[in-house]
Amino acid sequence: MTQENNKNLVINYSSAKYSWLKTGGKIKNLYKINSQTELINLFNGNQTINKSLLVIGNLSNTLIKDEGFKGIGIKLQGDFANIQINSDHILVGAAVLDNYFSKFCYKKGIKGFEFLYTIPGSIGGNIFMNAGCYNHEIKDKLISVIFFDINDKKIYEKNINELQFDYRKGFQKKNTIILYGKFKIFHGDQNNIKNLMQEYERIRNQTQPQKVNCCGSIFKNPTNESAWKLIKSSIDESFYRGPIKLSKIHSNFFENEPYVSANSINLFISKIQNKVKEKHKILLEKELRFID
Ligand SMILES: Cc1cc2nc3c(=O)[nH]c(=O)nc-3n(C[C@H](O)[C@H](O)[C@H](O)COP(=O)(O)OP(=O)(O)OC[C@H]3O[C@@H](n4cnc5c(N)ncnc54)[C@H](O)[C@@H]3O)c2cc1C
Repeated sequence: MTQENNKNLVINYSSAKYSWLKTGGKIKNLYKINSQTELINLFNGNQTINKSLLVIGNLSNTLIKDEGFKGIGIKLQGDFANIQINSDHILVGAAVLDNYFSKFCYKKGIKGFEFLYTIPGSIGGNIFMNAGCYNHEIKDKLISVIFFDINDKKIYEKNINELQFDYRKGFQKKNTIILYGKFKIFHGDQNNIKNLMQEYERIRNQTQPQKVNCCGSIFKNPTNESAWKLIKSSIDESFYRGPIKLSKIHSNFFENEPYVSANSINLFISKIQNKVKEKHKILLEKELRFID
Protein backbone atom coordinates (compact mmCIF):
# COMPACT_ATOMS: atom_id res chain seq x y z
CA MET A 1 0.00 0.00 0.00
CA THR A 2 1.67 3.25 -0.99
CA GLN A 3 0.82 6.52 0.62
CA GLU A 4 -0.46 8.05 -2.64
CA ASN A 5 -3.06 5.37 -3.38
CA ASN A 6 -4.03 4.63 0.19
CA LYS A 7 -7.76 5.32 0.36
CA ASN A 8 -7.59 4.98 4.13
CA LEU A 9 -5.23 7.88 4.60
CA VAL A 10 -6.54 11.15 6.01
CA ILE A 11 -4.11 14.04 5.76
CA ASN A 12 -4.21 16.61 8.56
CA TYR A 13 -6.88 14.85 10.59
CA SER A 14 -8.44 17.34 12.97
CA SER A 15 -8.33 15.93 16.48
CA ALA A 16 -10.17 19.07 17.63
CA LYS A 17 -13.18 18.13 15.52
CA TYR A 18 -13.54 14.67 17.06
CA SER A 19 -12.06 14.87 20.55
CA TRP A 20 -14.13 15.29 23.68
CA LEU A 21 -12.20 18.45 24.49
CA LYS A 22 -12.98 19.93 21.05
CA THR A 23 -9.41 21.09 20.75
CA GLY A 24 -5.98 19.71 19.87
CA GLY A 25 -3.49 19.67 17.00
CA LYS A 26 -3.76 17.80 13.71
CA ILE A 27 -2.51 14.31 12.97
CA LYS A 28 -0.49 14.72 9.78
CA ASN A 29 -1.11 11.19 8.48
CA LEU A 30 -3.98 9.24 9.97
CA TYR A 31 -4.65 5.76 8.59
CA LYS A 32 -8.12 4.34 9.10
CA ILE A 33 -7.64 0.59 9.30
CA ASN A 34 -10.47 -1.85 8.62
CA SER A 35 -8.80 -5.26 8.86
CA GLN A 36 -5.71 -7.17 9.91
CA THR A 37 -4.66 -7.38 6.26
CA GLU A 38 -4.76 -3.60 5.85
CA LEU A 39 -2.74 -3.21 9.03
CA ILE A 40 -0.04 -5.64 7.97
CA ASN A 41 0.13 -4.10 4.48
CA LEU A 42 0.52 -0.62 5.91
CA PHE A 43 3.41 -1.60 8.16
CA ASN A 44 5.07 -3.58 5.39
CA GLY A 45 5.23 -0.35 3.37
CA ASN A 46 7.97 2.27 3.50
CA GLN A 47 5.87 5.14 4.77
CA THR A 48 5.86 3.86 8.36
CA ILE A 49 9.58 3.25 8.77
CA ASN A 50 11.15 5.12 11.71
CA LYS A 51 8.06 7.17 12.41
CA SER A 52 6.48 7.41 15.83
CA LEU A 53 3.06 5.87 16.37
CA LEU A 54 -0.15 7.25 17.82
CA VAL A 55 -3.27 5.08 17.98
CA ILE A 56 -6.48 6.92 18.69
CA GLY A 57 -9.72 5.51 20.01
CA ASN A 58 -12.65 7.78 20.75
CA LEU A 59 -10.37 10.67 21.82
CA SER A 60 -12.08 11.01 25.19
CA ASN A 61 -8.79 11.06 27.08
CA THR A 62 -6.33 12.49 24.59
CA LEU A 63 -5.12 15.99 23.83
CA ILE A 64 -2.63 16.58 21.02
CA LYS A 65 -0.35 19.61 21.30
CA ASP A 66 -1.23 22.54 18.99
CA GLU A 67 1.72 21.81 16.67
CA GLY A 68 0.12 18.45 15.91
CA PHE A 69 1.44 14.91 15.61
CA LYS A 70 3.81 14.26 12.68
CA GLY A 71 4.20 10.48 12.96
CA ILE A 72 1.82 7.70 11.95
CA GLY A 73 -1.69 7.96 13.32
CA ILE A 74 -3.91 4.88 13.40
CA LYS A 75 -7.65 4.63 13.89
CA LEU A 76 -9.20 1.18 13.87
CA GLN A 77 -12.66 0.61 12.42
CA GLY A 78 -14.40 -2.02 10.20
CA ASP A 79 -13.59 -5.51 11.52
CA PHE A 80 -12.34 -3.95 14.75
CA ALA A 81 -15.79 -2.59 15.54
CA ASN A 82 -17.28 -6.08 15.87
CA ILE A 83 -18.32 -8.11 18.91
CA GLN A 84 -18.37 -11.91 18.80
CA ILE A 85 -19.79 -14.11 21.54
CA ASN A 86 -18.04 -17.48 21.83
CA SER A 87 -18.70 -20.35 24.23
CA ASP A 88 -16.30 -19.15 26.94
CA HIS A 89 -15.46 -15.56 26.03
CA ILE A 90 -16.54 -12.44 24.16
CA LEU A 91 -14.15 -11.16 21.52
CA VAL A 92 -14.49 -7.38 21.35
CA GLY A 93 -12.80 -5.20 18.74
CA ALA A 94 -10.74 -2.26 19.98
CA ALA A 95 -12.92 0.18 18.04
CA VAL A 96 -16.13 -0.84 19.81
CA LEU A 97 -17.49 1.99 21.92
CA ASP A 98 -18.08 1.38 25.62
CA ASN A 99 -21.68 2.51 25.67
CA TYR A 100 -22.50 0.29 22.67
CA PHE A 101 -20.79 -2.73 24.23
CA SER A 102 -22.55 -2.22 27.54
CA LYS A 103 -25.96 -2.07 25.79
CA PHE A 104 -25.04 -5.12 23.70
CA CYS A 105 -24.28 -7.09 26.89
CA TYR A 106 -27.56 -5.99 28.45
CA LYS A 107 -29.46 -7.28 25.41
CA LYS A 108 -27.66 -10.63 25.66
CA GLY A 109 -28.14 -10.91 29.44
CA ILE A 110 -24.42 -10.58 30.15
CA LYS A 111 -23.56 -8.77 33.37
CA GLY A 112 -20.40 -7.04 34.59
CA PHE A 113 -20.14 -4.41 31.86
CA GLU A 114 -22.74 -1.99 33.21
CA PHE A 115 -19.99 0.44 34.28
CA LEU A 116 -18.95 0.93 30.65
CA TYR A 117 -22.36 2.43 29.93
CA THR A 118 -21.11 5.71 31.41
CA ILE A 119 -17.55 5.84 30.00
CA PRO A 120 -17.22 7.61 26.63
CA GLY A 121 -14.23 5.65 25.35
CA SER A 122 -13.53 2.63 23.16
CA ILE A 123 -12.41 -0.87 24.18
CA GLY A 124 -8.88 -0.12 22.86
CA GLY A 125 -8.69 3.05 24.95
CA ASN A 126 -10.08 1.16 27.96
CA ILE A 127 -7.45 -1.57 27.68
CA PHE A 128 -4.68 1.02 27.28
CA MET A 129 -5.89 3.02 30.30
CA ASN A 130 -7.32 0.17 32.40
CA ALA A 131 -10.48 2.27 32.53
CA GLY A 132 -12.82 1.85 35.43
CA CYS A 133 -15.44 3.30 37.71
CA TYR A 134 -17.83 2.25 40.48
CA ASN A 135 -15.38 -0.39 41.73
CA HIS A 136 -15.02 -2.08 38.35
CA GLU A 137 -11.91 -2.05 36.18
CA ILE A 138 -11.44 -3.40 32.70
CA LYS A 139 -8.60 -5.69 33.89
CA ASP A 140 -11.02 -7.73 36.04
CA LYS A 141 -13.15 -8.52 33.01
CA LEU A 142 -10.33 -9.38 30.60
CA ILE A 143 -9.01 -12.83 29.76
CA SER A 144 -6.41 -11.62 27.28
CA VAL A 145 -5.33 -8.79 24.97
CA ILE A 146 -4.68 -9.33 21.26
CA PHE A 147 -2.29 -6.78 19.76
CA PHE A 148 -0.12 -5.99 16.76
CA ASP A 149 3.57 -5.29 17.20
CA ILE A 150 4.73 -2.83 14.53
CA ASN A 151 8.39 -3.83 14.88
CA ASP A 152 8.06 -7.46 13.86
CA LYS A 153 4.65 -6.95 12.19
CA LYS A 154 3.08 -9.85 14.07
CA ILE A 155 -0.08 -10.35 16.06
CA TYR A 156 0.24 -11.61 19.65
CA GLU A 157 -2.12 -12.62 22.41
CA LYS A 158 -1.17 -12.08 26.06
CA ASN A 159 -3.10 -13.43 29.00
CA ILE A 160 -4.10 -10.83 31.59
CA ASN A 161 -2.03 -12.72 34.19
CA GLU A 162 1.11 -11.92 32.19
CA LEU A 163 0.34 -8.21 32.09
CA GLN A 164 0.98 -5.69 34.85
CA PHE A 165 -2.25 -3.71 34.85
CA ASP A 166 -2.59 -1.13 37.58
CA TYR A 167 -4.87 1.76 38.49
CA ARG A 168 -5.41 3.65 35.18
CA LYS A 169 -2.44 1.91 33.65
CA GLY A 170 -3.33 -0.84 31.26
CA PHE A 171 -1.65 -2.27 28.19
CA GLN A 172 0.87 0.46 27.35
CA LYS A 173 3.52 -1.45 25.45
CA LYS A 174 5.39 0.85 23.07
CA ASN A 175 4.91 0.35 19.31
CA THR A 176 1.87 -1.86 19.68
CA ILE A 177 -1.72 -1.53 18.58
CA ILE A 178 -4.42 -3.16 20.69
CA LEU A 179 -6.73 -5.02 18.30
CA TYR A 180 -9.13 -6.99 20.51
CA GLY A 181 -9.94 -7.79 24.09
CA LYS A 182 -11.10 -11.27 25.06
CA PHE A 183 -13.56 -10.86 27.90
CA LYS A 184 -15.10 -13.22 30.46
CA ILE A 185 -18.78 -14.02 30.20
CA PHE A 186 -20.97 -13.64 33.29
CA HIS A 187 -24.66 -14.35 32.76
CA GLY A 188 -27.13 -12.21 34.66
CA ASP A 189 -30.68 -11.03 34.98
CA GLN A 190 -31.56 -8.38 32.37
CA ASN A 191 -33.61 -6.28 34.78
CA ASN A 192 -30.75 -6.14 37.26
CA ILE A 193 -28.33 -5.22 34.49
CA LYS A 194 -30.58 -2.41 33.28
CA ASN A 195 -31.15 -1.09 36.81
CA LEU A 196 -27.41 -0.96 37.44
CA MET A 197 -26.76 0.89 34.17
CA GLN A 198 -29.39 3.45 35.10
CA GLU A 199 -28.04 3.76 38.62
CA TYR A 200 -24.51 4.45 37.35
CA GLU A 201 -25.89 7.02 34.93
CA ARG A 202 -27.82 8.71 37.73
CA ILE A 203 -24.74 8.90 39.97
CA ARG A 204 -22.62 10.29 37.15
CA ASN A 205 -25.17 12.97 36.28
CA GLN A 206 -25.22 14.03 39.90
CA THR A 207 -21.51 14.09 40.58
CA GLN A 208 -19.86 15.15 37.32
CA PRO A 209 -20.36 18.01 34.86
CA GLN A 210 -22.52 17.11 31.86
CA LYS A 211 -22.71 18.43 28.29
CA VAL A 212 -19.41 20.32 28.55
CA ASN A 213 -16.07 19.82 26.82
CA CYS A 214 -14.00 17.78 29.25
CA CYS A 215 -11.78 14.71 29.48
CA GLY A 216 -13.08 13.07 32.64
CA SER A 217 -10.63 13.16 35.55
CA ILE A 218 -7.57 15.31 34.91
CA PHE A 219 -5.37 13.50 37.43
CA LYS A 220 -5.16 10.03 38.91
CA ASN A 221 -6.00 9.75 42.60
CA PRO A 222 -2.78 9.30 44.62
CA THR A 223 -2.84 6.31 47.01
CA ASN A 224 -5.31 6.97 49.83
CA GLU A 225 -6.03 10.50 48.55
CA SER A 226 -8.65 12.12 46.36
CA ALA A 227 -7.22 14.33 43.65
CA TRP A 228 -10.28 16.62 43.76
CA LYS A 229 -9.86 17.29 47.49
CA LEU A 230 -6.16 18.03 47.09
CA ILE A 231 -6.94 20.40 44.21
CA LYS A 232 -9.83 22.13 45.94
CA SER A 233 -7.74 22.84 49.02
CA SER A 234 -4.78 24.19 47.01
CA ILE A 235 -6.23 26.67 44.52
CA ASP A 236 -8.06 29.99 44.60
CA GLU A 237 -11.33 31.04 42.94
CA SER A 238 -9.60 32.25 39.76
CA PHE A 239 -9.22 28.58 38.67
CA TYR A 240 -13.00 28.36 38.40
CA ARG A 241 -13.19 31.17 35.84
CA GLY A 242 -12.18 31.69 32.22
CA PRO A 243 -12.16 29.75 28.93
CA ILE A 244 -10.44 26.83 30.70
CA LYS A 245 -11.79 26.41 34.21
CA LEU A 246 -12.21 23.82 36.89
CA SER A 247 -15.69 22.44 37.34
CA LYS A 248 -17.62 23.66 40.38
CA ILE A 249 -19.22 20.21 40.50
CA HIS A 250 -15.95 18.26 40.53
CA SER A 251 -12.56 19.91 41.06
CA ASN A 252 -10.69 17.12 39.24
CA PHE A 253 -12.55 18.02 36.02
CA PHE A 254 -11.96 21.04 33.86
CA GLU A 255 -14.28 22.46 31.26
CA ASN A 256 -13.02 24.38 28.26
CA GLU A 257 -14.42 26.42 25.45
CA PRO A 258 -13.98 24.71 22.07
CA TYR A 259 -10.80 25.39 20.12
CA VAL A 260 -8.89 27.00 23.02
CA SER A 261 -5.24 26.15 22.54
CA ALA A 262 -4.25 22.67 23.63
CA ASN A 263 -0.98 24.02 24.97
CA SER A 264 -2.85 26.47 27.18
CA ILE A 265 -4.83 23.54 28.63
CA ASN A 266 -1.56 21.79 29.35
CA LEU A 267 -0.27 24.92 31.05
CA PHE A 268 -3.46 25.19 33.12
CA ILE A 269 -2.96 21.59 34.25
CA SER A 270 0.68 22.29 35.19
CA LYS A 271 -0.43 25.27 37.28
CA ILE A 272 -2.82 23.06 39.24
CA GLN A 273 -0.06 20.48 39.66
CA ASN A 274 2.27 23.16 41.06
CA LYS A 275 -0.36 24.50 43.47
CA VAL A 276 -1.01 21.01 44.87
CA LYS A 277 2.71 20.32 45.14
CA GLU A 278 3.29 23.58 47.02
CA LYS A 279 0.45 22.95 49.43
CA HIS A 280 0.56 19.18 49.96
CA LYS A 281 4.01 18.11 48.67
CA ILE A 282 2.24 15.66 46.36
CA LEU A 283 2.88 15.53 42.62
CA LEU A 284 -0.38 14.65 40.91
CA GLU A 285 0.00 12.35 37.91
CA LYS A 286 -2.00 13.22 34.81
CA GLU A 287 -4.70 10.81 33.68
CA LEU A 288 -5.28 12.82 30.49
CA ARG A 289 -2.88 11.76 27.73
CA PHE A 290 -1.14 14.87 26.42
CA ILE A 291 0.61 14.07 23.12
CA ASP A 292 3.65 16.32 22.69
C1 LIG B 1 -16.97 12.73 30.44
C2 LIG B 1 -15.88 11.71 30.63
C3 LIG B 1 -15.97 10.79 31.66
C4 LIG B 1 -14.97 9.82 31.84
N1 LIG B 1 -15.08 8.92 32.85
C5 LIG B 1 -14.14 7.97 33.01
C6 LIG B 1 -14.25 6.99 34.06
O1 LIG B 1 -15.20 6.96 34.83
N2 LIG B 1 -13.26 6.06 34.17
C7 LIG B 1 -12.19 6.05 33.34
O2 LIG B 1 -11.33 5.18 33.50
N3 LIG B 1 -12.06 6.96 32.35
C8 LIG B 1 -13.00 7.91 32.17
N4 LIG B 1 -12.86 8.85 31.17
C9 LIG B 1 -11.65 8.83 30.33
C10 LIG B 1 -11.75 8.00 29.05
O3 LIG B 1 -13.09 7.86 28.61
C11 LIG B 1 -11.12 6.63 29.24
O4 LIG B 1 -9.76 6.75 29.58
C12 LIG B 1 -11.21 5.75 27.98
O5 LIG B 1 -10.70 4.48 28.27
C13 LIG B 1 -10.45 6.34 26.79
O6 LIG B 1 -10.87 5.66 25.62
P1 LIG B 1 -10.73 6.35 24.19
O7 LIG B 1 -11.11 5.35 23.19
O8 LIG B 1 -11.45 7.64 24.15
O9 LIG B 1 -9.17 6.59 24.15
P2 LIG B 1 -8.34 7.78 23.50
O10 LIG B 1 -8.56 9.04 24.28
O11 LIG B 1 -8.58 7.85 22.06
O12 LIG B 1 -6.88 7.23 23.81
C14 LIG B 1 -6.42 7.12 25.15
C15 LIG B 1 -5.07 6.43 25.13
O13 LIG B 1 -5.23 5.10 24.67
C16 LIG B 1 -4.42 4.84 23.53
N5 LIG B 1 -5.17 3.94 22.64
C17 LIG B 1 -6.47 4.05 22.28
N6 LIG B 1 -6.82 3.01 21.50
C18 LIG B 1 -5.72 2.23 21.36
C19 LIG B 1 -5.43 1.02 20.67
N7 LIG B 1 -6.34 0.39 19.94
N8 LIG B 1 -4.17 0.53 20.73
C20 LIG B 1 -3.20 1.16 21.44
N9 LIG B 1 -3.43 2.30 22.14
C21 LIG B 1 -4.66 2.84 22.10
C22 LIG B 1 -4.17 6.21 22.92
O14 LIG B 1 -2.97 6.23 22.17
C23 LIG B 1 -4.10 7.09 24.15
O15 LIG B 1 -2.80 7.09 24.70
C24 LIG B 1 -13.85 9.82 30.97
C25 LIG B 1 -13.77 10.76 29.93
C26 LIG B 1 -14.77 11.69 29.76
C27 LIG B 1 -14.68 12.68 28.62
